[in-house]
Amino acid sequence: MIPLTRPLTGDEEIQLVAEVLRSGWLTQGPKTAAFEEAIARVVGAPHVVAVSSCTTALHLAVLLAGVQPGDEVIVPSYTFVATANAVLYAGAVPVFAEIDAKTFTLAPSEIERLVTSRTRAVIAVDQFGLPAELDALEEACRARGLVFLEDAACALGAAYRGRPIGSRGKFVLFSFHPRKSITTGEGGALVTDDPAVDARARILRSHGASLSDAARHGAMGKAFESYVDLGYNYRLSDLQAAVGLAQVKRLDGILARRRALAARYAERLAGLPWIEPPFEPPHARHPYQTYAALLRPGAPIDRDSLIRHLADCGVSSRRGIPPIHREPYMEARLKAPVTLPVTEDISRRTLILPLYPQMTEAEQEQVVEALRSAPSSRAR
Ligand SMILES: *Cc1c(COP(=O)(O)O)cnc(C)c1O
Repeated sequence: MIPLTRPLTGDEEIQLVAEVLRSGWLTQGPKTAAFEEAIARVVGAPHVVAVSSCTTALHLAVLLAGVQPGDEVIVPSYTFVATANAVLYAGAVPVFAEIDAKTFTLAPSEIERLVTSRTRAVIAVDQFGLPAELDALEEACRARGLVFLEDAACALGAAYRGRPIGSRGKFVLFSFHPRKSITTGEGGALVTDDPAVDARARILRSHGASLSDAARHGAMGKAFESYVDLGYNYRLSDLQAAVGLAQVKRLDGILARRRALAARYAERLAGLPWIEPPFEPPHARHPYQTYAALLRPGAPIDRDSLIRHLADCGVSSRRGIPPIHREPYMEARLKAPVTLPVTEDISRRTLILPLYPQMTEAEQEQVVEALRSAPSSRAR
């Protein structure tokens, strides 16, 4: 069976984890600090705070954005549920917005449509890794005094107008879940250009303590921490950071391979006019964390029948993202019904195809052949 995705790991990860185990410093030690520096270098950001997941990074960012209980935060519905959950953790209300039909990212005009006196912030999502329309979104937020956050869970290695994602912005949140380009098993990062956000995120990440573990150990009992805020345990361990350090070294190779495979898919799928390869605007670099194609209206087979056919051919595939305003928990909380026709249409037509750095051209050919041999469900 050709998998949908597969993390690329090797001996270097094992060696670095062994180093941590031998050192006895298993969390908040030198490997976490080194991993933060490595990510800062890769994304060109001054401050990186490693945390336990992108979800916890989002939660901290929402709090540090000053979102208060009862505030509204505009989020796309076409995203993973964690984007909206982070808003709910802060007692605030996610307001679901429409996406652009080509990029699958938050439509900038939605800010004007959905803003109210209670709107505090906007979270854009770099969907499948493709950067959102950052210039227009940031400008719309600036004009209305809203805080802008970027859920860049899938976007490590992406670029927008020549700059890596993470090199601009006060709240850029990454994930290192195995489904993403590089992994620490579980893990995430809050990336910021603001030293005050960096300092407060470090305190909140570790129980609200005024002093980091490293600083406390370094002082050998001569300095004491106090608990200055309601903090959390959102730390990344040094075992995970060690895996991350080895993974960062693989990033360029992983991205190059993903982009080469994506280009090859686009070429091979050109013969199947009912499938539309993912869109990459000229000003953005897509990392293809996920290869999300669209079935064109009038395709000879419906999406779910196609997924079953691909499975019969030994090829894993997946439906796109179900709109989160339709998920039972979110739907039950909505004060008024929400209809987002573009989101719902795109969601019904998205097909995620296998893409991972170890994928061979023969495997990719098997995927293309399976698509080519799809029976017409219209004929039935
Ligand atoms: C994966 C993902 C998350 C969650 O990341 P975790 O590290 O698993 O918490 C959040 N938002 C988006 C858009 C994602 O794709």
